[in-house]
Amino acid sequence: MKVFKFGGASVKDADAVKNIASIIKKYDGEKLVVVISAMGKTTNGLEKVVNAYYYKNDDAIKCLDDVKNYHHDIMKKLFKASHEVHTTVNNLFVEIEWVLEEQPRNYGFVYDQIVSIGELVSTTIISAYLNDNGIKNKWIDARSCIQTDNHYRSGNVDWELTKKLINEIIPGATNGENKIAIVQGFIGGTSENYTTTLGREGSDYTASIFAYCLNAESVTIWKDVAGVLNADPKLFEDAQKLEQISYNDAIELAYFGASVIHPKTIKPIENKNIPLYVKSFIKPDSAGTVIGRDLQTKPLIPSYIFKSNQVLISIAAKDFSFIAEESLSKIFGVFANAGVKINLMQNSAISFSVCIDNDEFTLQSLLDELKKEYRVLYNDDLLLYTIRHYNQFTLDKLTKDREILLEQRTRNTAQIVIREVKE
Ligand code: ASP
Ligand code: MG
Repeated sequence: MKVFKFGGASVKDADAVKNIASIIKKYDGEKLVVVISAMGKTTNGLEKVVNAYYYKNDDAIKCLDDVKNYHHDIMKKLFKASHEVHTTVNNLFVEIEWVLEEQPRNYGFVYDQIVSIGELVSTTIISAYLNDNGIKNKWIDARSCIQTDNHYRSGNVDWELTKKLINEIIPGATNGENKIAIVQGFIGGTSENYTTTLGREGSDYTASIFAYCLNAESVTIWKDVAGVLNADPKLFEDAQKLEQISYNDAIELAYFGASVIHPKTIKPIENKNIPLYVKSFIKPDSAGTVIGRDLQTKPLIPSYIFKSNQVLISIAAKDFSFIAEESLSKIFGVFANAGVKINLMQNSAISFSVCIDNDEFTLQSLLDELKKEYRVLYNDDLLLYTIRHYNQFTLDKLTKDREILLEQRTRNTAQIVIREVKE
């Protein structure tokens, strides 16, 4: 069994769907679990629907129409008007309309019920297209495979139950004529049959969950780049491809925000020593990058991870006392309750500094909460650089003529916070 994952960019329009069909066709006769994300920027579009409904900052129905029209355009190019897939997809969108008609409940709950439809729709379209074109497959509902708690927007997987369910469902779906199971990335289900999501960009994690539970031979993530690069090619012209990466380096790179792999992806497959291939869906026959045990990262060059729109918050006691264990535990509690991930932190005797993403929906309430007990200062419009396998030369180059607000180094990783230069 092999597990494939196709992200939003690989299924962003009708031609892209045809392209992934041609890739899957190359694996004729093999048992495959194919995990697919929402098409293109659908998740962002559905987030707009959620925010419009919840915060009334926009017209939710109109935002939903944009998402629907985008899919209808793609479907027109793939199917006849009489094809039953149109009804199936429309019924999925109706589920969103039902939510919009109700009084808003908990934000995370609403978010997951609405945003998950993106993946249900994309897999419905792709499964039908593949079946029509000789690639026999079975559409599987990930919510009956991956069980999570009800921590909405980042469900925690119940591994025992998930393993049991996946092994009940997938072998049957990939036997006989159907060798391929098509399944949604990013989503799971609770014991009460509600939908949860696994966190933005969580489809890689889904692939890893299936691979772990099925003892798969390998996982392949198909991307619009040649493999894992040492920097984002949109920001660094001379980004280079890494041929192979140790699990350890991959975990660190993903943890620090290299957008190529979701951070939770590596651990489960590392545990079972399942190799992860990152390959280009544009050039599917070229080698890509392999991540695995006993592999040393090659070439061993610095890797750059770049996060913009950062805020550096500095927290001090109102009475000028030290920031010690007790206050730190309270401060962490505030961040945990707000669901805010800390990208970098540092403490001195009298203050504690934290670098986080600037999220307009959470920042203000987080600051208000902290201000109840502490003196709080903050700087925004900052950049956070993480450099894995850094050297002094690369650090000097990045920070030349820049004001460094915070710097931290370990043996393999350097992190710096600098001011963003606006063009
Ligand atoms: N569609 C989801 C997202 O955009 C999950 C994924 O793409 O991995 O966050
Ligand atoms: Mg996506």
